Amino acid sequence: MSLYLENVIETAKRKNSNEPEYLQAVEEVLATIKPVVDNHPEYEKIALLERMIEPERIVSFRVPWVNDEGNVVVNRGYRVQFSSLIGPYKGGLRFHPSVNQSIMKFLGFEQIFKNALTGLPIGGAKGGSDFDPKGKSDNEIMRFCQSFMTELYRHIGQDVDVPAGDIGVGGREVGYLFGQYKRIKNAYEGGVLTGKDVCYGGSLARTEATGYGLIFFMREMLKAHNNSLEGKTVTISGSGNVAIYACQKAYAYGAKVVAMSDSNGCIYDENGIDLELIKRIKEVERGRISEYTKTHPNAQYIERTDEDSPVWKIKTDIALPCATQNELTLNSAKALVENGVIAVGEGANMPCTIEATNYLLEHGVLVAPAKAANAGGVATSAIEMSQNSMRYYYTFEEVEEKLDRIMVNIFNACKEASDTYGCCGNYVAGANIAAFRKLAKAMKAQGVV
Ligand code: NDP
Repeated sequence: MSLYLENVIETAKRKNSNEPEYLQAVEEVLATIKPVVDNHPEYEKIALLERMIEPERIVSFRVPWVNDEGNVVVNRGYRVQFSSLIGPYKGGLRFHPSVNQSIMKFLGFEQIFKNALTGLPIGGAKGGSDFDPKGKSDNEIMRFCQSFMTELYRHIGQDVDVPAGDIGVGGREVGYLFGQYKRIKNAYEGGVLTGKDVCYGGSLARTEATGYGLIFFMREMLKAHNNSLEGKTVTISGSGNVAIYACQKAYAYGAKVVAMSDSNGCIYDENGIDLELIKRIKEVERGRISEYTKTHPNAQYIERTDEDSPVWKIKTDIALPCATQNELTLNSAKALVENGVIAVGEGANMPCTIEATNYLLEHGVLVAPAKAANAGGVATSAIEMSQNSMRYYYTFEEVEEKLDRIMVNIFNACKEASDTYGCCGNYVAGANIAAFRKLAKAMKAQGVV
């Protein structure tokens, strides 16, 4: 690694020693862009890397709300506006008890690279709260969302910052957030949030986009290595938005999904996961995945007992981590390799630890990196924004076709970068390099800001 890169990493570590996820994301990117940085000695003088890893702005705020018992609860809200280099800040909101500044910053940092890869004019941001939606009534969710937006509204806008969903924030939450924004602003700014219901400005196929996009990317990656999804066994972690629609599209390409999970454990169904049942349990009843075996007694429920999810011990050709960061550890990577996995597709953000990614690559496993492989969600959000601006709707087929084309372009960009910079077949490096080149060019062009 060059001295400049080393110094940037060392300074980042010193300044952010209590933010491990953020440092992990930064190190992962900086470790792969050396060949580009070496070709541009002028970057050091203009502190290009230092500026790229420092968020433009972080907002942290109090979110007081009243629960059903009449007690006041206080949560902490965040919005990390990381980069507006190539468009308005754009990135989801996460409601989960684990949310803290480090996780918000890592997600915001990843988002600028991901958004650059889409080829669309969107900057990078992330936000959320340590609020836990699990077990809350609809009214509690609404009161929380309204309080959250009562502060957030002053920092966002359809040309400023456009939030969307993420873990714990789906169509219901986006609806409550949008309603409160509209009420405060007394204006119908349809493009201020994405992931809206289609009945008030959402895009068809946005719900499906991240999962579908992941499979489109996987299809292209396998094709480049003379392989396909047809007849492959697939295991998926998570049973939320990304996992469900990745499962649906994997089936459409002739693969068989045999396992899915939630944070408590996983189910293994050798006959193929009954996706309609998963959707009912998770989306309608908001229940636990263990309930699957009530209807399918032949399936097996394996409870999670430590940090290594049981889902990665199941034999599979393709593994799709679609739950959360660092869910696929070195131990899990070893189990997957031992069982003959050929490809891993990151649906979640940074689901593989750095050690796991390196182990998979060293053992010839194809890795579809999150920044590229799960970019279909935000790309479709940008398509939603453009429909809102045009006051027009595309059909489901039109959006899906655009999404497919974007994912093909993203894969090609990753491949071109990995071929050009001597890391052929390493799409983790390819994605970082392709996005970095674009961001660096924009940063140079815009001067010291
Ligand atoms: P959802 O809230 O819909 O689903 C999350 C799923 O992951 C649930 O099954 C949840 O299980 C599981 N999960 C959450 N936290 C943990 C944990 N600590 N350990 C194990 N399992 C966990 O979220 P999404 O599907 O929207 O998001 C999943 C991932 O994909 C996230 O990393 C997100 O950032 C990323 N992503 C999402 C996009 C989108 O469009 N939605 C776009 C790009 C990336 P449980 O019910 O037990 O909590």
